[in-house]
Amino acid sequence: MFKGILIEKDEAGYRAGVKDIDEAQLPEGNVTVRVSHSTINYKDGLAITGKGPVVRKFPMVPGIDLAGVVEESSHPEYKAGDAVLLNGWGVGETHWGGLAQKARLNGDWLVPLPAAFSPQQAMAIGTAGYTAMLCVLALERHGVKPADGEILVTGAAGGVGSVAVAVLAKLGYTVVAMTGRPKDADYLKALGAKEVVDRADFSSPGKPLGRERWAGAVDVAGSHVLANVCATTKYRGVVTACGLAAGMDLPASVAPFILRGVTLAGVDSVMCPRADRLVAWQRLGSDLDVAKLGRISREVGLAEAIPLAESILKGEVRGRVVVDVN
Ligand code: NDP
Repeated sequence: MFKGILIEKDEAGYRAGVKDIDEAQLPEGNVTVRVSHSTINYKDGLAITGKGPVVRKFPMVPGIDLAGVVEESSHPEYKAGDAVLLNGWGVGETHWGGLAQKARLNGDWLVPLPAAFSPQQAMAIGTAGYTAMLCVLALERHGVKPADGEILVTGAAGGVGSVAVAVLAKLGYTVVAMTGRPKDADYLKALGAKEVVDRADFSSPGKPLGRERWAGAVDVAGSHVLANVCATTKYRGVVTACGLAAGMDLPASVAPFILRGVTLAGVDSVMCPRADRLVAWQRLGSDLDVAKLGRISREVGLAEAIPLAESILKGEVRGRVVVDVN
C-alpha cells in the first residue's frame, strides 16, 4: 500500500482526499517510480477541485509533475536507482500522476533528473518553470535579444511568471513584471524585475493598437491581458502565449500582426517533444539561479496540497508549491 491523493467522481459527487492505495491498482507502464516530490500547478488546481474538465478517468491520482527514483523498469533507458522527473504527457489527467508515493508510467515520458538540481529543486521548477523556459526559448528562436528592449511577464508572481522573471533577468533581459498583487513588488524585484506594473491596466478592453513598448512578452493570462499586450508590443516584437489565468478568450484585433509584424507564439508543455524538453531542462540548469528557487517555492505535505488547489485558482499562491509526498 502507498499514500496518494485520489480524485473520485460518482453519485456522491466529485471529491479528492488522501487515501491508502493498493499497488495492484497502479496503471500499466514499463517503469515504476518511487516518488519523492510533486507539485501544485494551476492545472492540478483545476483537477483537484473539479473546476475544469482536466481529469478524464476516475478514480484518478492527480499531479502533472513528479520527481523520484526508479524502482523497477523494463524500459531500455532506465534501471532501478535512476533519478528521474516527469512533466505532462497527460499524467494526472488521463494516467495516474505524481501526487502519490508511487507511479507507474511509460518510460518514454521520463527525463533523467538534471545534475544541477535535487528532486526538490526540480519540482520547485516543475511544469510551470519548464513552461517558462519553453517561452524563453521561443523568444530566442524568434530572434528577441536583450538589447531589443523590455520584456513583459504577466502573472509574474505565479509559478510560470516567477521562473520566467528569474531566467530572463539572468540572461540579461530588462524584465517588467505585471502583477495583480502590488504587495509582491519586492519579491518580483528580488527575482530580477526592473519594474512592476499593475494588472488592472491590462485587464479591460483596450484599443487595437497602443504605444509600442515591449520587445517581447511571456503571457500566462490570455483574454484582454493578452490582447492588450499584443497591442502594445513593438514593431516585430514577439509575444509567447502559454496560459489562460484571465480567460480562454482572445478579444483582440489583427492590427498588431498586420501593421507591426508582431508574432504570437503559442507554447505547450504537455505534448512538447522529448528533444525540446531535454533542451529546456538543460537550459534551466544553466540559466536559472538555483539560489532563487528557495525564494520562489515552499514545501507542503499531501494533505495540505488539497486546500491549495482552491487557492491557486484564486491567484493566491505566490511562486511554486512543492509537495513532499512522503
Ligand atoms: P499560477 O496560479 O501560479 O499563476 C498564475 C498567475 O496569473 C497568478 O498567480 C496571478 O499572478 C495571475 N492571474 C490570476 N488571475 C488573473 C487574472 N484574472 N488576470 C490576469 N492575471 C491573473 O499558475 P501557473 O503559473 O502554474 O500557470 C499559469 C497559467 O499558465 C495557467 O493558466 C496555466 O494553465 C498555464 N500553463 C500552461 C502550460 C502550457 O503547457 N501551455 C503549462 C503550465 C501552465 P499575479 O497575482 O502576479 O498577477
